[in-house]
Amino acid sequence: ATPMSIMVGVGKGAQAGVLIKNAEALERFAAVDTIVVDKTGTLTEGKPALVAVERAAGQDENELLTLTASLERSSAHPLAHAIIAGAEARSLDLLPVDGFESVSGKGVVGQIEGRRVAIGNAALMQAEGADQPDLADAAGRYRDEGATVMFAAIDGRFAGLAAVADPIKPTTARAVELLHKEGLRVIMLTGDNRRTAEAVARKLGIDEVIADVLPQDKDAVIDRLKREGRVVAMAGDGVNDAPALARADIGIAMGTGADVAMESAGVTLVRGDLMGLVRARRLSRGVTRNIR
Ligand code: ADP
Ligand code: MG
Repeated sequence: ATPMSIMVGVGKGAQAGVLIKNAEALERFAAVDTIVVDKTGTLTEGKPALVAVERAAGQDENELLTLTASLERSSAHPLAHAIIAGAEARSLDLLPVDGFESVSGKGVVGQIEGRRVAIGNAALMQAEGADQPDLADAAGRYRDEGATVMFAAIDGRFAGLAAVADPIKPTTARAVELLHKEGLRVIMLTGDNRRTAEAVARKLGIDEVIADVLPQDKDAVIDRLKREGRVVAMAGDGVNDAPALARADIGIAMGTGADVAMESAGVTLVRGDLMGLVRARRLSRGVTRNIR
């Protein structure tokens, strides 16, 4: 493409809310055949709300919510906010936490009033020595609706679960449909549980899901796709996604997400919705067509 047509393309992109960092990114976009998208905050709003709390036998529900919400006050994860808001809705008084620890891609742990409290995924429960046979069915039901399930343990004993639902952005389904029409392969990449991820994917017509991926392993997934000969664009919003955005042939950050994601990406979608991706793809094809 000529420098002039690229400048025009970058300008048109900016008007449409697609910020393109360099000319190379715009040109390369036309060659992309695979789009990898993070789930939380990219396909969904990233504003999960608490939909249910289920307690283990002998566990008080308000105590469960008080302890886990107290812990989540020290977490920056979107899931944390849902638990805290749930506790606030019940006017529960939160407690101070000692020795807070965030376990990447798994959850959070800390000491409250001399007890060890943990909330997170099944892998975290395993690390805590707590299994959850009695609520496994309930967890499955919430996941099949697309909700994310977090388990809680107190002093190494399973204490209950919290289910949160994160609404899908209104434009996501249409954007996925148009990307498919462009002949692109769309893959969901998430740290969430497979069953939840597949339920969300079903609603969106996404037929490829890579779930249960630790944040530090997301860039390895991008690497693998590239080695298979795919030209990969990765769209994500989180601090977790930054290495994968940098590793992709084109990184695409959500303007509504973390600053570090935008710094690692060649393209930023100002409005944070995937229709911007469709626009970027069309712009890119328009620019590269000009040379032929
Ligand atoms: P995603 O790829 O969807 O952004 P993450 O890798 O951040 O997901 O998290 C993966 C899983 O780890 C979550 O679905 C959740 O079960 C658990 N988790 C992570 N952080 C927290 C937290 N602060 N509180 C509870 N659970 C958490
Ligand atoms: Mg995310």
